[in-house]
Amino acid sequence: MSDPETVDFGHRRVAPDEKTRLVGGVFDRVAERYDVMNDLMSLGTHRLFKRMAVEMTGLRPGQRVLDLAGGTGDMAALLAPVVGPSGNVVLADINPQMMEVGRQRLLDAGHAQVAFCQTAAESLPFADAQFDCAVIAFGLRNFTDKHRALGEIHRVLKPGGALLVLEFSKPEHPLLQSAYGAFQSLWPSMGRAVVGDAASYEYLVESIAQHPGQKALKVMLQDAGFDAVEYHNLLGGIAAIHRGCKRGVTRGVTRGERGGKQSLDTERTT
Ligand code: SAM
Repeated sequence: MSDPETVDFGHRRVAPDEKTRLVGGVFDRVAERYDVMNDLMSLGTHRLFKRMAVEMTGLRPGQRVLDLAGGTGDMAALLAPVVGPSGNVVLADINPQMMEVGRQRLLDAGHAQVAFCQTAAESLPFADAQFDCAVIAFGLRNFTDKHRALGEIHRVLKPGGALLVLEFSKPEHPLLQSAYGAFQSLWPSMGRAVVGDAASYEYLVESIAQHPGQKALKVMLQDAGFDAVEYHNLLGGIAAIHRGCKRGVTRGVTRGERGGKQSLDTERTT
């Protein structure tokens, strides 16, 4: 049985602070070449998955969206044209190196309405009910406390707002499982060749194995208060998009606990 005081870091169990530090180290090391590796490892399919997730947001011009664990800005770049100049995209991530790559890319592409916020998902510096939608692409797996992060997202969404989680999942067919396992076994060598770092990609493979499957993640979203939770498998379940909605009164921290939370107009940015 695992120690309840520890959390998974790949196949290891570590203290929560240690996981945050180790995950930070992974993304510090890969930030510069993160996008190249994504294209190689996914054979480009992550781009299609991200487009599908953005389609499923149902966002309209003028709305506000939180791109949590936004990293190097792929999702923000897709979301910005959907909400348009009157809308607002907040790219939030714990890692300044990843965000710096994203900031340069988004600036170069002219997406002026993207704001940046360095923060842990487990403690969002926003007041309740600020966002029409939140997306997390390939981020949830890395969070130190997934339940707390989901509660925070629920809190900052407006009633009726949607959460979209795009994440690696569990392939359903046994043949696909073994073919995918064989392909994944190449990733650490690819990481060594392209980034000079195999260990980060060993962590990636292990973290995918540890991550809850489709049905378990659906229950996690329901436990965090999301309604109408559904998921769609991508490439036979190699990845999945989960979607849930916030209904009714705002959940999460109470007014008294909220103390330092800020509205979007004064959010902490880097
Ligand atoms: N969303 C981007 C994409 O799809 O390309 C980046 C995904 S990258 C695999 C995961 C991101 O999660 C990293 O940028 C990392 O810094 C961020 N992250 C990890 N733990 C986090 C946490 N507790 N709170 C916020 N961001 C976190």
